[in-house]
Amino acid sequence: MVRVRFAPSPTGNLHIGGGRTALFNWLYAQAKGGKFVLRIEDTDQVRSKQEFVDEILFSLKWLGFNWDEVEFQSKRFELYREQAQKLLSSGKAYEEKTDKGTAIIYKVTPQTIKINDLIRGEIVFDSSTIKDQVLIKSDGTPTYNFACVVDDAAMQITHVIRGDDHISNTPKQIMLYQAMGFALPEFAHLPLIMGTEGRLSKRTGATAISDYRKMGYLAPALVNYLLLLSWSPGENREVIDIQEAVKLFDIKDVNKTAAAFDLKKLDWMNNQYLKKEDPEKLADLLIPLLKEKNYIQENNIDRNYLLSLIKLFRERLTRLNDFPDWADFFFLEEIVIDPKAQEKFLSKDLSKEFRLFLQRLEALKEFNLENIEEAFRKLVQELNLETKALIHPIRVALTGKTVGPGLFEVIYYLGLARTKKRLEKFIK
Ligand code: GLU
Repeated sequence: MVRVRFAPSPTGNLHIGGGRTALFNWLYAQAKGGKFVLRIEDTDQVRSKQEFVDEILFSLKWLGFNWDEVEFQSKRFELYREQAQKLLSSGKAYEEKTDKGTAIIYKVTPQTIKINDLIRGEIVFDSSTIKDQVLIKSDGTPTYNFACVVDDAAMQITHVIRGDDHISNTPKQIMLYQAMGFALPEFAHLPLIMGTEGRLSKRTGATAISDYRKMGYLAPALVNYLLLLSWSPGENREVIDIQEAVKLFDIKDVNKTAAAFDLKKLDWMNNQYLKKEDPEKLADLLIPLLKEKNYIQENNIDRNYLLSLIKLFRERLTRLNDFPDWADFFFLEEIVIDPKAQEKFLSKDLSKEFRLFLQRLEALKEFNLENIEEAFRKLVQELNLETKALIHPIRVALTGKTVGPGLFEVIYYLGLARTKKRLEKFIK
């Protein structure tokens, strides 16, 4: 049975690169009906933090990558020590005493190491440049390469899928597999992800998965984007449901070349998902954002009204957070008018036009979309005005902005009272 693992170190948040590695492991397990093991590599007791463990688990769940098993390396020190002891006894490793304690070191025998990488094909390593490998540091903790091999063998991992920043570790790990008499897994190294300014860094907060969540990206959109970073379903398709990707995925088709992380493309992808997302679900995601801004109160949520507004904006949203920004005028009593927009569209005195329009609105038998539009069209015709001569100023007066949903929808959902109050401000 296929067994893969994702092995993050909890010394920071889950970042884009880690999310991509987790995705491809999870995807491979799904595609092969295998198991996805999560291994927290918390051997560095100073830099590993519980808050990062929590954040990594939370982000993986948010992305939808549920694991079948979870292990913590910090609970397995006994096992690493035992294995190191065996290598010592067989003469393959030696001890080195320092004032901090005793380290155990593997004696490297020069050899040529070959792997058949599932993505990159044959890779030949010359181990003559590899120095003897520390297995257990003088403080008693295991090194990454050693703990990784002991665990991959103990956890019966069949495929090691990880970023190609680990490629130089692979020959060192293969030597350790051989020294301990363990069967080798298959290896697959995922291509590098480049940022706009060179390499994406684990330590720069902006690349954390949780930051994208907070910025208002939907998990399926981010997953789809991560997928495209290193794989394509073919036929120029870009938007693909993860369950469909599971069916089409073959690790051999993963790109060999570096991928560029492009925020504009991610924005585009997010819009694709926001557009087709169920408004009810969007409402659930937006309510906390609207509460945070004090636009709505817990005990006073008009869900149907909110759903109507969501439908008005949904097509254009790039991030969830656009909604409270763009739709603020539907929630605020006092709107903020963009000074430039005011200067451009409201510096001329439109008292007469606004007054007439208000009179027509008030005279409507029924305050509905169709009647609002008809009243407006008739008025501009009678006044012999161009539509835009009135549409832009009214929009700015009602919303504070120059762009937004259709004006008649804006008037309808604001309602007569608020429309009146806002237009009257510009009637002298
Ligand atoms: N803890 C390592 C990392 O986060 C794991 C590398 C591997 O998958 O072997 O980079």
